[in-house]
Amino acid sequence: AIIDTGKPRIINDLERYLERHPESESTRRIVAEGIRSSLTCPLIADGRAVGFLFFSSTKKHTYDGLHQEVFLYIAAQVAHLIEKSKLYEKIVGLNQRLLAANQQLREQASRDALTGVFNHGAIIEFAQQKLNRAMRVPFGIVMLDIDYFKQVNDTYGHIQGDLVLRKVAATIADEVKPSDRLGRYGGEEFLLLLNDVTEEQVLAVAERVRAAVEHVEVPTESIPIRVTISVGATYVPPEAAVSLTEILQCADVALYRAKNNGRNQVQLGRL
Ligand code: GH3
Ligand code: MG
Ligand code: MG
Repeated sequence: AIIDTGKPRIINDLERYLERHPESESTRRIVAEGIRSSLTCPLIADGRAVGFLFFSSTKKHTYDGLHQEVFLYIAAQVAHLIEKSKLYEKIVGLNQRLLAANQQLREQASRDALTGVFNHGAIIEFAQQKLNRAMRVPFGIVMLDIDYFKQVNDTYGHIQGDLVLRKVAATIADEVKPSDRLGRYGGEEFLLLLNDVTEEQVLAVAERVRAAVEHVEVPTESIPIRVTISVGATYVPPEAAVSLTEILQCADVALYRAKNNGRNQVQLGRL
């Protein structure tokens, strides 16, 4: 009734009210506590009832017309505050969702849609950051290219080719540490950044990745597809004054040496 009318309700004698409404459990309880009169004010915010403010007294006939007006004013203020805090909570919630969506978007924007590894822009940026760092740690840059991949597409179709690309990416990612980063440099070429390594470790990781890819099988309706990769690896010591372009060229030259040398192998390029 209070929501419907938006009007406050005064009960000046709760004992009498209980006699007339013996089914009212709440009245029975407050009467047992010694309450004798009450005033219930609706909290109206934006034209909607958002709750009630309940006043009670141990004396009968406590709430008269004057009280009612004052209490209604209080109720209006409280309702306003409640509405404001609800709005605030809503804004905080929306803001959190926005931040999460932003984060997700930024993450998506740096990923390659097919393989899920970093895309060209992102991996190059990571490499540049590594190189620019004031207190540089030694790192490795490894360029990996699938051998005769055009043949895979030509033989099994591009859909199967895509599956092979995904599988190769996942296999490389599995072989490296979480602090290393893998990106898709271009079509069937990947770039691997190895964090804080020696020259021997760069070669060892590159060789481990090469061997892992060699054993991968991508099932088809007939025989499974197997591919190999050729790898050009470069070690970047902390003191080397080189540009990223020079490092990438060095890895690229090593990669082509691996191709020309018969593929499915790792070659080291020295800066
Ligand atoms: P090589 O051993 O000399 O590297 O030979 P290759 O056939 O791997 O090299 P080539 O550059 O001739 O061909 C690369 C192929 O990679 C051609 C292209 O269709 C394929 N490719 C590039 N991106 C994708 C892709 O996203 N999906 C699929 N299915 N194929 C791709
Ligand atoms: Mg290629
Ligand atoms: Mg290739």
